[in-house]
Amino acid sequence: MRIRILIILMLTIMGTCFVACTPNTKHIERTLDFFSMNTIINMIAYGDNAEEALIAARSRTLELENKWSVRLDTSDVYTINHANGTTVAVSEDTVKLINFSLEMARKTEGAFEPSIYPIVSLWGFTTHEFYVPTEEEITATLDLIGYEKVQTNDNLITLEQGMSLDFGAVGKGYALDEVIEILKMSGITSALINFGGNIGMIGDKPNGDKWQIGVVNPQGGDYLGVLSLSNCAIATSGNYQNYFEVNGERYGHIMNPLTGRPQSSDIISVTVVAADGKLCDALATAIYVMGVDAAIELWRIEGNFELLLIMNDGRAFVTEDLIQNFSAAEVLIVEKILK
Ligand code: AMP
Ligand code: MG
Repeated sequence: MRIRILIILMLTIMGTCFVACTPNTKHIERTLDFFSMNTIINMIAYGDNAEEALIAARSRTLELENKWSVRLDTSDVYTINHANGTTVAVSEDTVKLINFSLEMARKTEGAFEPSIYPIVSLWGFTTHEFYVPTEEEITATLDLIGYEKVQTNDNLITLEQGMSLDFGAVGKGYALDEVIEILKMSGITSALINFGGNIGMIGDKPNGDKWQIGVVNPQGGDYLGVLSLSNCAIATSGNYQNYFEVNGERYGHIMNPLTGRPQSSDIISVTVVAADGKLCDALATAIYVMGVDAAIELWRIEGNFELLLIMNDGRAFVTEDLIQNFSAAEVLIVEKILK
């Protein structure tokens, strides 16, 4: 009898120790950094399965890059862009990306323009052999631009001869959503994923604090402010991110699809916060082209994103629901955008 009690007691003690000695995996950090989609991607995830989940997320990113690269001659986008007016069949991922891009082009009345590639290329942004084209060259190239001319029928895509697509303004956001989905399906409840400025968050930090996302100062130095966020996506666009200068004139990589020229703007940067990464990515680029008034009008109509606009006169416009999450640097004068 005594021996039986002793054995039960020992088993109970061992059981307690096993539970108590198991490490709390919620706080174990796993990181994975790699280059894809023309940018450095940083992934941080916490908890059980984090390592396997990040590896699966990287595979998915590389898979999408192989479908959407403008240079890889086996990619869907390369095939579409070299079809010479014929119809081509593409993968389901690419169909979804094209349909989303066309929807965003309609919503932004063409400020977001997925067929902008010939103009981007004319200015040398695709090769980094920058060039200021003549008026005639711009006018001739503008004939090749127009999302309304992109024909889709299920997975069949047809462009007019000479047209080509460019998903540089939305592909990273789309891939970010896919990565977030993979991590969530793997049970990850805390993660921070950065696709070169397109950032996605799952939950909060493991200690329960919100993630702190710095808003870059294009002049360098400290951040212009910090957004405290959780469980959402964020993207920032601006012509300070990629540009060249000739005779003191600056030419940036975000194009106005009507003029065929880099958009000049009193906006330094557009930051969009929303549940969806691809929406943030597409809108941040489009709103840079649209300007402040049209952006606010779109925000009031759509109601599914928040905005932070940094202006070159030192003002920052922030939508009313986002303002409590924004802590601005002293140099900024913050103004609330009301519904
Ligand atoms: P982002 O960094 O997301 O703002 O995207 C900028 C990239 O999108 C550029 O480098 C071009 O490849 C492409 N792009 C430029 N202008 C536009 C536009 N108006 N609509 C859609 N894509 C654009
Ligand atoms: Mg974008």
